[in-house]
Parts: sequence; structure tokens; C-alpha cells
Amino acid sequence: MSLHNRLTHSLKVEQVGVSIYTKLSGDDRQLPPIFDMHAIAAACLAHDLGHPPFGHAGEQELDALVVCGQHQRSRPRTYEQRRQDPCSNCKLEDGFEGNAQSLRISAVLSVHKDKDKTDKEIGPIGLDLTRASLAATTKYPWLRGAPDKKASKWGAYDCDKEILEWAVGRQDVPDLNAQVMDWADDISYAVHDIEDFYRIGLIPLNDYKRGTDVAKGFLRYAKSANAVGPLSPGVEEALYGLFEFLPRSRFTGTTEDLAALDRLRGTLLTSFIRAAKVESGNVVRDPIQDELNGILKQLIWFHIIDEPTLANIQVGQRQVLRDIFGRVETFALEAYKVGGAAMADEQSLRRLPNALRRTLDLALAQDSSYTHKQKIYRGILDFISGLSDSEAYYLHAVLAGREHVGHL
Ligand SMILES: [Zn+2]
Repeated sequence: MSLHNRLTHSLKVEQVGVSIYTKLSGDDRQLPPIFDMHAIAAACLAHDLGHPPFGHAGEQELDALVVCGQHQRSRPRTYEQRRQDPCSNCKLEDGFEGNAQSLRISAVLSVHKDKDKTDKEIGPIGLDLTRASLAATTKYPWLRGAPDKKASKWGAYDCDKEILEWAVGRQDVPDLNAQVMDWADDISYAVHDIEDFYRIGLIPLNDYKRGTDVAKGFLRYAKSANAVGPLSPGVEEALYGLFEFLPRSRFTGTTEDLAALDRLRGTLLTSFIRAAKVESGNVVRDPIQDELNGILKQLIWFHIIDEPTLANIQVGQRQVLRDIFGRVETFALEAYKVGGAAMADEQSLRRLPNALRRTLDLALAQDSSYTHKQKIYRGILDFISGLSDSEAYYLHAVLAGREHVGHL
């Protein structure tokens, strides 16, 4: 029995999303016509497509590689400001973001060949999803730096502005289907990650009982301003109630252990799925269950993410991305003759990895407000962010001369 990965996570988010759909459909509430099981399922499957290698550390690093210090996540400018007064220090001021990349993969980078088209006509059309499915996938329906929106998240790059507008229209809040996907993601993340980390011995769920040192230490951590903050009335008791369902011993893989895990998973999934209802066309989460969900995610921060081992691994991973970016940037700018003679030369182009040449050609062919050079940077980010963790390590080793070339 293996641990969850991005793919199995997405499959489970889909199952949870469809369960929430079923629960909401059974409620005696008015549901808007856009509420749609297929859009929810598609969104759940697509929601993590844009994750680059090395998770959130990788996401931040790719962004930092193309955005100057002044225009980082905390101080982004609007689309209009970027156009009217381009920053000469930014390589690509709308940067890198996993959600924006998911939309780009679905709508631009993936290939779906329509049976009535010839091979030549394929072009950058993406998966040809419906507007409803793309809208459901879009948790943050705005461009980077949109006024009054979360600065650290955005749903589309400047080059994909038209696609975003086509998908969501004038909406600047996620639609009902996207809200269902979002809750399904929160539920799956909390439940399945805790399960995985308990199984490999990183989260000692069996030590969590009312009053144990581990439980007290964790509660102090969870209540700190950097985590959840002060808990609402009733939440602490609800958490103790949940402790009753935790396994009683370390995981050793016996049938009893598996049954205990299954009971925990079932209990959590059911109470979280039931915690959703629709009011005035929006998903409303039961506040105690929503807060409990946030607290469970803090278990992962408490036991794993804020641990020095992982922090050290991430320093290395960021360096891998910086090195790859530096080399690929040199190849690409040289091959496409940025700042040099007019035409890209076929000989240099032929030396680029096929996957890189493809993302560069797609980015260059796309009509947008980007300059030639910005298009190249978008194509570079599309290529690097499309690598898996192990492909990134491998490419890094090849570029450093420690590994001979296979296929890329
Ligand atoms: Zn800048």
C-alpha cells in the first residue's frame, strides 16, 4: 500500500467532490443552474496539474526567478500597471503560480486532437474543456495583483487573460462548483496526508489524547498567530471528540491497524462532507468543522513541514531549480536570438530538448500583451514546471555533467 501522490490525491479529491455534490443535491435547498457534477469532477481532477517540482517551495522559487524583489507576492502590481509601465528588473512580472499554471495546462499546453481537424490544425488549444469546467477549476478568478484580492494567489497569467475571461466572464469570485472543489481539496488534504504521515511514523496519532504532552504541545502551536490563532468556542472540545477516533497504537500494517485507519478516514470524511451546505448560491462550511479541518492541516506543519530536515531538503531543491533555470535561460535566449540577430537559428533550436522547444514554440505563437522575451520566459517556466521531482533532479545532474543524457 503506497502513499498518496499528486495523482492519487487528485483522484480522491474527485471522489470527495462528487460526494459533496451528492450531499448538496439531496439537501432541500435552491441550487443555481451552474451546479454540475461533471464540472466539479473535472475541476477536482485538474486542480493540482500546475504544481511544479518540489511543491510550494518550487512554486515560490520559480516565481522569485522571474519577478524582481520589488514586485514579489506581497507587492504585486495590476495588469494595467504592468502594461503601461513595464518593470525593467522583472523578467516576467506576472510570475509563476500553481493555479494559473493549472489553467494554462488545461487550456493551452495539453493537446486534445479534435477528430474533425487535421494534424496541422491542432495548435495550442488545450484539452478543449467546457467553460463550466474551466471556471470550476479556477479558485482565484483574477490576474496577478488584482485590487482587493489575495496577493499571493492568482488564477491566470497575463498571456492567458482571454481564456480566463472566456471561462469566468465578469465573475471575480470562484463559482459554486469551484467552491465545492476547494472544500473537497481541503478535506482530502487534511485526511489523506495525516493518514500517510501516521503510517510512515511521522505523525504519532496514537499519542494524541486529551491532556498528553504531544496534544498540549500541538494545541499551543495551533493556537499561535502563525498557525490557526485563537480557537473559536467549541472547537477544542470537538478536537478532543475527534481524538476518540484516532488509532491507539503505532502503525505496523496489521489488519487491525488498517481497519482503525479506515474507521478514522470514514469518520473524518463523513463529518466534513456533511459540513457543507449551499446558501444564496455559495458553499457555506459549518464553522466548527472548517476550523477543525484547518487544525488537522496544522498537524502536518507541526510534525513535518516546520522540521529542520525538510527545511534543509528544500534549500537543495530550490538550488536545483535555480541551476536548471539558469542553464535553460541561456540556451533559450541564444536559440531564439534575444537581443542578437533577427532570426532564431535552426541549428541552436535543434539542440534544445524537445519538450522545451515545444513549450517555447507554444508560448511564442500565443497572441498576448507579452514581448518576445517575455514569451520566452513563459515557455521556460512551462517547461521547468512540467518536470516531476525526479526529472528535475535528473536534468540537473545531466546539466552538471554528472549523468549522461537519456531522454527529456
Ligand atoms: Zn519588477
